[in-house]
Amino acid sequence: MRSIYVCIGCAAIYLPPESMSYPSLGLTASTAHCTRRDCTAAVRETVALSGLPEAKLGELARRALGLEGQPRRPRLNHRPARGRRAAAAPGGGRGKLH
Ligand SMILES: [Zn+2]
Repeated sequence: MRSIYVCIGCAAIYLPPESMSYPSLGLTASTAHCTRRDCTAAVRETVALSGLPEAKLGELARRALGLEGQPRRPRLNHRPARGRRAAAAPGGGRGKLH
């Protein structure tokens, strides 16, 4: 499956070729930035400053936009599955046996 990427430099959303290369431009597609020269430079600098690999930065950016990983859901949907009680708080038992 092809992935959609987001440029860390300019926030553009882009869909590189499956081969991850642009033969006509002589460029290799990155998972973290578009083909603009200043974006390439900005990401190179971010990699150097953060110590994170380019691919990881790209992944974080995609997650932030919801392009990768589980879709974000409102807090309301975080209830226990039907038929299962939420775990009791320690010492907070509701039973009458105490
Ligand atoms: Zn860019």
